[in-house]
Amino acid sequence: MASAFKQAWFLFCLLFFTGALHADVIYLKNGKKIECESAWQEGKTVKYKISTGTASIPQSMVEKIEKSSSASSESAAKGQAPVGRIDPLTGERLARFYTDRGMELLQSKDFPKALKQFEKAYGYHSSETTTLNLAIAYYYLKDDWNAENHFNEVLRKNPDNAVALNYLAEMHWRKEELDQAEEYWKRSLSAKEDPGIRTKLQRLAKEREAAAHYNSEESNHFLIRYDGGSVDPSFASAVSAFLEEAYQHLSSQYDVFPPDPFVVIFYPQQQFVNVVDVPVWSGGANDGKIKLPIKGLTTVNPELKRLLLHELSHSFVNLKTLGNSPGWLQEGLAKYWEGERTSLQGKTLLRNLLSTRSLPPLRNLSGSFADANTQTASIFYVESLSFVEYLIARYNFLQLNQLLDLLGKQHSLQDAFEAAYQVSPEEMEKLWRADLSFSPS
Ligand SMILES: [Zn+2]
Repeated sequence: MASAFKQAWFLFCLLFFTGALHADVIYLKNGKKIECESAWQEGKTVKYKISTGTASIPQSMVEKIEKSSSASSESAAKGQAPVGRIDPLTGERLARFYTDRGMELLQSKDFPKALKQFEKAYGYHSSETTTLNLAIAYYYLKDDWNAENHFNEVLRKNPDNAVALNYLAEMHWRKEELDQAEEYWKRSLSAKEDPGIRTKLQRLAKEREAAAHYNSEESNHFLIRYDGGSVDPSFASAVSAFLEEAYQHLSSQYDVFPPDPFVVIFYPQQQFVNVVDVPVWSGGANDGKIKLPIKGLTTVNPELKRLLLHELSHSFVNLKTLGNSPGWLQEGLAKYWEGERTSLQGKTLLRNLLSTRSLPPLRNLSGSFADANTQTASIFYVESLSFVEYLIARYNFLQLNQLLDLLGKQHSLQDAFEAAYQVSPEEMEKLWRADLSFSPS
């Protein structure tokens, strides 16, 4: 019944609405297209407006949406801004008003609320700026599909918009689509000189040089890239099988189901050092892609399993918190899920530091540990694991997920922690320190 209804709308749309009225075109994967007044995405469906109402189709059927810059917008279709019923000047003024409010929210990293304001601004006046803001909000909400559509819409309005080009490059780079990433970054550089983009292009060139002849192993949730010359394909598929298993476990623990596959790249040792800018003590890196040295591995041994679980935990936490997580939480959880627990030696180390008043407070462990020297970094790791273990042992993992979710909504650590645990992080740290000094060795 429902599908017959959808088909009827589909035909209706195709048959009766093909004139100049149409604003958006939905291109389907089966080669067909739907011309409509406006189209937008809501969850896993694409909705589109025609003069007699709103129809929808599953997003999985849709290849892309081409949006027109001139006619009514998707936000107008949602009833957020009555375009056409107000004069253009008032529309522009209202758009500026909502843009300002959106910018404030964007600066305080409240992306969901910023998106709402930008949608209104865009609904009143679909310009290069309002479209770009909307795209950026979608980008930070990890809604790549809507972000890409809107960045492309910006480029139809202005092919030299460097900001849109840079975001598109970053999105393709993350998906290991290096050709497209390079093209967008090069276009951006020719539109506007930017040393930061030059650095990104250099990194991309190194990655490309290292991985030019790499093979790929694709599974449901991973794209594994490896040097076919030095890595046996059976090893790559063993890694893939292990990662899928780890994914099932971690996605249910973290209660997050990523929309895009994770990229994992194996480099021979020397290339790893060339490509990845990490301290000598680091076993792997995660800059949005998991990068690992192959170090002559031929089987998925326990050391590699730990490394993969560690880096995968980072990817999940990053996705869940949209990058808003302190170092101790990231590393403590990564250590926890790689299967490490604080050893007797670790406890003794922490206790000795505590008794000499030289155990660093957790707030000193907020940033990346990559800047620390080997000795300090090892203290940071032991400390982070011990604190995270303390949280998990005394509270439910549900609360940890609540903390991560609130951080993902860009709450401060203070607010998110208090909401999840009913005490401040400092109070919790005091309890943990007291526990450290009293618990038997
Ligand atoms: Zn780590």
